[in-house]
Amino acid sequence: MASVLPPPIESQVPISATKILINNRWMPSVSGKTFATINPATGEEICQVAEADAADVDKAVSAARAAFERGPWRRMAASERGRLLHRLADLIEAHTEELARLESLDNGKPVSVARAVDVAATVGCYRYFAGWADKVQGKTIPIDGDFFCYTRLEPVGVVGQIIPWNFPMLMQAWKLAPALATGNTVVMKPAEQTPLSALRVGELIAEAGFPDGVVNLLPGYGPTAGAAIAGHMDVDKVAFTGSTEVGHLIMEAAARSNLKRVTLELGGKSPNIVFADTDLDEAVEGAHFGLFFNHGQCCCAGSRVFVEERIYDQFVEKSSARARRRTVGDPFDPTTEQGPQVDEAQFEKVLGYIESGRQEGAKLVCGGDRVGSRGYFVQPTVFADVNDEMKIAREEIFGPVMSIIPFKTLDEVVDRANRTTYGLAAAVWTRDIQKAHAIANSVRAGTVWVNCYNVLDTRAPFGGFKQSGIGRELGEYGLQQYTEVKTVTVKL
Ligand code: NAP
Ligand code: MG
Repeated sequence: MASVLPPPIESQVPISATKILINNRWMPSVSGKTFATINPATGEEICQVAEADAADVDKAVSAARAAFERGPWRRMAASERGRLLHRLADLIEAHTEELARLESLDNGKPVSVARAVDVAATVGCYRYFAGWADKVQGKTIPIDGDFFCYTRLEPVGVVGQIIPWNFPMLMQAWKLAPALATGNTVVMKPAEQTPLSALRVGELIAEAGFPDGVVNLLPGYGPTAGAAIAGHMDVDKVAFTGSTEVGHLIMEAAARSNLKRVTLELGGKSPNIVFADTDLDEAVEGAHFGLFFNHGQCCCAGSRVFVEERIYDQFVEKSSARARRRTVGDPFDPTTEQGPQVDEAQFEKVLGYIESGRQEGAKLVCGGDRVGSRGYFVQPTVFADVNDEMKIAREEIFGPVMSIIPFKTLDEVVDRANRTTYGLAAAVWTRDIQKAHAIANSVRAGTVWVNCYNVLDTRAPFGGFKQSGIGRELGEYGLQQYTEVKTVTVKL
């Protein structure tokens, strides 16, 4: 493992956007308050950011409402909305290096990953939905009688969007792109831990030429600014990604206020099922990537690795050897695979889960401690002999902690895989096509990967069964969540 000595890299990342964006204008918060965003590699403050609260949300919602009802956005050709989204994608692509560095600085992910995954997928997402802008169309319906009946797909209206810190810029794109392609206006709160890339993209949105009030960005805290969005009487829909716990609060706030539409993308405890007939080395590497990617901070992380008994010991040995080789360190070092966890709270939470694994009798085969003495770095950690009742097998850890669990038969593993309140993703590793399809058909999850993991594509829907969420993001299904269907019937 590399030693952790992050150099003073802040100076290499220019930071221009730290305020609230309403009506294409940057402004301080109504209260004048600011908060610090932290570099998780050092624990030091990067800069102060305006702290939006309910009063700022009111201003932003008014701007978004005016833009929706009366602005040029409403009258703009659908193809022109597509052109604006394409322009934004081009601007983001042209600023790849700067945005990747900013994401890395604020979030802690390796800059190489931010460049190749976060920025690239963000550009791809805006381009994909740009293409949809003028292809959202209704139907003509042969109803009984002498009538002409057709449907129109109209924007929902003013959309509130609350996003997490694990893929800040990409989660912004997953939410903004379909909402804008379909003609909505947006009031968005980036995560308190990682506001900087979303705000920089806000500058590019204004530069691309989106009309005033179409996109409004409010850095701030969940219980204040976030709750004000979720409970607002003039917000037509709220889209949220984050913890299941907060997902419940969002839905309650929507129910108590104006029955706004709710889509949720929440947590997971995804089973990754490895049969003995698989290519062992591929499965070990796939499971490693499935759990440790993004420091374990993925909603779809394969955090319950079920391994068939016959290959269990070998799998544990190879997986821990791989985890020991994982390079942890400075996110700006190109050889780094894993940077720090996003903040102190997550760092403490992950270490707490590791302690609970130890206390409940799981076998710690590697890792288990912090790396270095500053910043929020955690050793890649592997537990063997985990059983289904342990906390580390039931709760979302959201950190670099793998639990390897033995199983004997297909029916048994399906049953155990489904014994969770979550249902976001699952994977199976096997050379037997029958087993692969048996798992794909019987595991209750929104995504199933066969002999691969974390293959996410902007064209394919993503979302959860059960308490992993409501609705889908990405693809045509994601687009549908941002329109209302209107039926028009004309007497002939
Ligand atoms: P979180 O609280 O659910 O945060 C997600 C977003 O919701 C943030 O923008 C947050 O604001 C906001 N929020 C918090 N409370 C709110 C409220 N009452 N009303 C409206 N918005 C609210 O997640 P977290 O505390 O950052 O992380 C905790 C756990 O959530 C993680 O350990 C992980 O298990 C899970 N998580 C899942 C995902 C995912 O991709 N599904 C992503 C992140 C975290 P703040 O910025 O003030 O927190
Ligand atoms: Mg930060």
